[in-house]
Amino acid sequence: MRVNILGITINTYSMPETVEKIRLAVEGRAKLRIVTANPEMIYASGSNQRLKNLINSADVVTADGIGVVWAARRLGTPVQERVTGIDLLQALFPVAHAQKWRVFFLGGKPGIAQRAGSHVAQKYPGIIWGESNGYFSLAEESQVIEKIHNFQPDILFVGLGAPRQEYWIAEHSELATVCMGVGGSFDALAGNVVRAPKRVQEFQLEWLYRLWKEPWRWKRQSVLPRFVIKVLWQKFVRTSQNV
Ligand code: UDP
Repeated sequence: MRVNILGITINTYSMPETVEKIRLAVEGRAKLRIVTANPEMIYASGSNQRLKNLINSADVVTADGIGVVWAARRLGTPVQERVTGIDLLQALFPVAHAQKWRVFFLGGKPGIAQRAGSHVAQKYPGIIWGESNGYFSLAEESQVIEKIHNFQPDILFVGLGAPRQEYWIAEHSELATVCMGVGGSFDALAGNVVRAPKRVQEFQLEWLYRLWKEPWRWKRQSVLPRFVIKVLWQKFVRTSQNV
């Protein structure tokens, strides 16, 4: 089931359900394209039809962040829980380890995906991994593609930032069974960016913690109040149409 938030349809799956969908896809060699949709992306898709089509045509669209969970509830069609890119990555690693999946990390500054991969492999040695940084020129792109192609990943995680990673995946989804945009997750896996403490996450204030640690995000996060207003408007329009 999918719920409509500002024209973007989001799956209501829980984290375990999402992981199981991915496991089945990898085991069955069935292509799967995943988008973790956060409020910024949903808001941006309002004026970007290409992005909107790409998100809505993905096989799985998760509620990335508490803002999306709130919007779904507010619109009367709740999702089960938030399924962020980094949390989904971390939930997939034990399965990837057990099944000895081939996992490719594409993105981040030079050295970051390498460090992320090493950290992950220390804990989950069953994972066969490859990596490439996300700062390649158009001329270098074919080498990156060849590297991924030769690696034959079960899962390709692309951390080039949204929406570029979504465009990139749509163009190169033949490279892996499962493709997923993961934003800045490699920075967190590499230990470059520290996530909010668990208690802060439980209080659903991770966005505030991130703003404190990375104040330059202020401009990007300023989209949140506009997102809220648009959601409330969608709710109002829906309600008034139903009376
Ligand atoms: N990035 C990249 N290539 C680029 C631009 C950005 O690999 O040309 C990476 C950047 O290093 C970072 C990620 O893309 O790791 C974007 O992270 P951000 O936190 O902005 O994304 P979000 O998680 O908010 O989508």
